[in-house]
Amino acid sequence: MQLNFSGLRALVTGAGKGIGRDTVKALHASGASVVAVSRTNTDLVSLSKECPGIEPVCVDLGNWEATEQALGSVGPVDLLVNNAAVAPLQSFLEITKETFDRTFNVNVRSVIQVSQFVARGMIARGVQGSIVNVSSMVAYVTFPNLPVYSSTKSALTMLTKAMAWELGPHKIRVNSVNPTLVLTAMGKHVVPDPEMARKLKERHPLKKFAEVEDVVNSILFLLSDRSVSITGSGILVDCGYLAS
Ligand code: NDP
Repeated sequence: MQLNFSGLRALVTGAGKGIGRDTVKALHASGASVVAVSRTNTDLVSLSKECPGIEPVCVDLGNWEATEQALGSVGPVDLLVNNAAVAPLQSFLEITKETFDRTFNVNVRSVIQVSQFVARGMIARGVQGSIVNVSSMVAYVTFPNLPVYSSTKSALTMLTKAMAWELGPHKIRVNSVNPTLVLTAMGKHVVPDPEMARKLKERHPLKKFAEVEDVVNSILFLLSDRSVSITGSGILVDCGYLAS
């Protein structure tokens, strides 16, 4: 998707791999300055070589204090993509406190914390910013061994609306993208069995999973001024799964 983000500064979390990494590349190619936030430094080093000039920030977003130290003074941000997440596999009866806390801290609490830093700055500067929360179709449908992860994504549905409601008067828009399976590291971890993947693909009307590029395109659209009247909403990038 050809969009021009020249003169704008974007922050992308979970920038080291998968959807976040390609979002950074697309924003960089479209002229934005990008703050790339992730946990594994080697990923950020290789990304910085591919995208000269980006600002890498290495932090565990599940750690509130470390995140405050790393991003509390991040400076002006016009576009925010809350993409980092973890997806531990546990059935409902296996859920542990540690898994619950870790998953909610990374997938939901860090979205609140990072968005607060960014939105406060947008309001102070009077910027008409855009925030995209990377959610999932499992915010709306169940999926094997993902009750905690799915619950975090459902929480993002309401958090997205609440943020849109409160930040709308400041002309800050907040939306989500809700993809089906994408065969990134996370996607392969969630569906490790080829037979399960085949059956799952068959349930999609388009008989395929989403590609990373499909998700990135929807993120870019929601960040851009092509979507100026859209807020508190979500784009399903689900190959029709929820229609099946
Ligand atoms: P990947 O696991 O491929 O990449 C996730 C990135 O986020 C990694 O760079 C990872 O770093 C980083 N990250 C994870 N936890 C933290 C943390 N605590 N602090 C900082 N960075 C962190 O995932 P995807 O690209 O597949 O997923 C991106 C988003 O898309 C997620 O929100 C996911 O829920 C969503 N999604 C993915 C789908 C899929 O099938 N892949 C389907 C629907 C939604 P590191 O590896 O170093 O931990």
